[in-house]
Amino acid sequence: MVKTSRAAVVPKPSADLIIEEYEVPELQPGAALMKVGLAGCCGTDVHLWHGKLAGVPYPLILGHEVVGTIESIGPRPIEDLDGNELKVGDRVGFHDVTDTCFSCYYCLIADAPTKCPNRKVYGITMDSTQFPRLIGGYAEYLYLKPGTHIMKLPDHVSFEGASAVGCAMPTAVHTVLRSPMTWGKHVAIQGSGPVGLMIAVLTNVSGAASVTVLDKAKNRLEMAKKFGATDILNIGDTTLEERKEKLREISDGHGPDIVYEATGNPKAIPEGVELVRDGGSYTICGQYTDHGSVEINPHLMNKKHLDIKTVWGSRTLHVYRGIKTVAENYDRFPFEDLVTHRFSLDDAQKALEAQEKQVSLKAVIQPHGD
Ligand SMILES: [Zn+2]
Ligand SMILES: [Zn+2]
Repeated sequence: MVKTSRAAVVPKPSADLIIEEYEVPELQPGAALMKVGLAGCCGTDVHLWHGKLAGVPYPLILGHEVVGTIESIGPRPIEDLDGNELKVGDRVGFHDVTDTCFSCYYCLIADAPTKCPNRKVYGITMDSTQFPRLIGGYAEYLYLKPGTHIMKLPDHVSFEGASAVGCAMPTAVHTVLRSPMTWGKHVAIQGSGPVGLMIAVLTNVSGAASVTVLDKAKNRLEMAKKFGATDILNIGDTTLEERKEKLREISDGHGPDIVYEATGNPKAIPEGVELVRDGGSYTICGQYTDHGSVEINPHLMNKKHLDIKTVWGSRTLHVYRGIKTVAENYDRFPFEDLVTHRFSLDDAQKALEAQEKQVSLKAVIQPHGD
């Protein structure tokens, strides 16, 4: 039996991470202990490190993109989302959100459960000073609370392959489902970070007529070609007019039916409105953290008769479909190549720094070595 677990802790916003050792608590009925295989270091983790999200309790154990092995199970059997009983040694992932109540106004009436105020997120809003303390992936072990939605990873999907897609894949699934995506559509995607790449994968497998990815980082654009992009456009060496012209050329003279925003940069929004065709759809998911305001001409949105949507968070179905999509298309797209940097638990801070400087596409923390 594992008695203790080391964890990398953010003591307070922007402070250096420290390594602490916690007692592994006794497992409640319905709970399980996960031996962390890989914990993704997400852009959100960098923002959380700097205290950029309200309502987050410090000291905090980061890590909401976690895959690993079931180490032990509490005194009641547990099942994965397909209804299979989980066993010690199973390789699993889980939805980082728990406690969505399905009894509040947002869950029941507004039909927007990702806005449920009772939701708790591993590695983000759970309090590491309270039982069970081990609530983030930057640790050797993680306590999977009763009611956590767990998914078994198919044998052919490695920890790298599963964690590479992290929370980007569920966000992309949610985003594409919010849009009027069907086969034969011309699609443009602003941003070729992990979310943009996963939107490229999903629109490609959905039968898009074309998938054009726009970014200014050459290496990321090259990566996009491996993840379903049929065309790429470098915004660093083209003008807006040239980009519009090129997109019209690709789409029989009309412009993209759907534009997706996945940049995190407010300046992308007025451009997205310019790029989409008249009567088209614009779906925004990259503005998860606050990077300020931008000037925009609402007349253009109105005149173009646009269908504009935004996306917040993800539901279990998005994680589930994301993992299934990765598994079903594992030979088609090099998911494992998204992991570009790997760090030990002691070097968790270096992982955050690498992610912050964007030297990595995806950095992961591997608490147990090989
Ligand atoms: Zn609710
Ligand atoms: Zn994330």
